[in-house]
Amino acid sequence: MVRYEYRCPACGPWTAAFPMGAAEAARPCPECGVRSPRLWSAPALNRMDPGVARLRQSEEASSDAPGVTSTVPAAARRPRRTDPRQARLPRP
Ligand SMILES: [Zn+2]
Repeated sequence: MVRYEYRCPACGPWTAAFPMGAAEAARPCPECGVRSPRLWSAPALNRMDPGVARLRQSEEASSDAPGVTSTVPAAARRPRRTDPRQARLPRP
């Protein structure tokens, strides 16, 4: 389904979803029933969440030249063992 935009002369712009290519050039307004012409607008290409867009850009940038880390990030460090019984457990 594709969202098409229409503009009612009395109520203003509104949208409706139809299969691609099935939208009429004018449709009745859902509020007042006046035939509203379809608007030509750019496709919704910039509707991605900014956080997701930032992650995808960093992913694309790192595919050619991945970053090199020399230390373990602070968030990934394991917590220290506080129970002394864990010190006697066998190590892998
Ligand atoms: Zn209207």
